[in-house]
Amino acid sequence: AAKHAGRHQYCFFRQDMKDQLQDHLMVLQGIDQAIAESQLFLEYQPIIDLQTNQVSGGEALVRWNHPQHGLIPPGRFIPIVEDSDRIEALTLWVMRCSCRALRQQILPQAPDFKLSLNVSGVALQSDRLRDGILEILLREKVPPQNLRIEITETTMMRNVEKCAETLRHWQHAGLRVLIDDFGTGYSSLSYLTTLPIDGLKIDRSFINKQLPGSYCPVVEAILALSKSLGIQSIAEGVETEYQLQSLREMKATHAQGYLLGRPMALEKLLERLGEIEVG
Ligand code: C2E
Ligand code: MG
Ligand code: MG
Ligand code: MG
Repeated sequence: AAKHAGRHQYCFFRQDMKDQLQDHLMVLQGIDQAIAESQLFLEYQPIIDLQTNQVSGGEALVRWNHPQHGLIPPGRFIPIVEDSDRIEALTLWVMRCSCRALRQQILPQAPDFKLSLNVSGVALQSDRLRDGILEILLREKVPPQNLRIEITETTMMRNVEKCAETLRHWQHAGLRVLIDDFGTGYSSLSYLTTLPIDGLKIDRSFINKQLPGSYCPVVEAILALSKSLGIQSIAEGVETEYQLQSLREMKATHAQGYLLGRPMALEKLLERLGEIEVG
């Protein structure tokens, strides 16, 4: 029986490796064409201000509509692109596309809207990307205060000095950042006071643990931390009324999640602007 199981495991392992290899090839061979031929597109997920109960911003999330493989979620291709130099081109594409949407369609309706976009900490190591982001900001005439760069805690900590340098450079242009998936990495808390950080996005895994009868001290600790730093706290992955209610009671400033709106097409987001939310 052991021999049998062993052989099975071997097969699964091989299949898994084969899939990974195929994903790598598909992504790296296709990404340039995807950018050039508009196979990539953005969806926008609303972010709610818990004081006004209105949409105060949104997060741009990239998707890939592959001609052979169909819709590919970012979790399947971003990590692969991040390990190649193509992450630069992808990030600049996302920046250009979201800045256009912001200036041409969102801001005319909602002048205070904050659009956040994800920039990999890996991409922050590149001076070309650092300058490319600022060029697009100027060329697309987007007020920097309407934009937020989300950087995950883990990719930022991989090279905190270089990331800090880029962020300080951007700070002069008025750009500010949110720390994404906060609580999952190992941050030195000292950088929170020295970098242009506008808020902490509390990772979904902690919000998930907020169930009736079970209390998640991490959420409350992050809320206390952001409060004492005088920055925003955005709860990610809010799926239930119970979670929303407890976040309100704990004075979180913003929330995002399927309960409040799934990632959606730009047109749908525009319909949500100015709408009063329930709750
Ligand atoms: P993230 O930046 O933490 O984005 C939030 C993810 O959580 C999104 O997944 C979103 O659809 C999902 N989500 C939001 N609310 C809920 C909820 O209530 N429940 C659950 N289960 N999930 C929820 P998505 O779009 O698949 O993106 C995954 C990750 O891919 C993002 O995590 C981000 O790290 C990365 N990503 C997405 N777009 C970009 C991009 O343009 N550039 C870079 N560098 N990374 C990106
Ligand atoms: Mg994000
Ligand atoms: Mg996140
Ligand atoms: Mg994430």
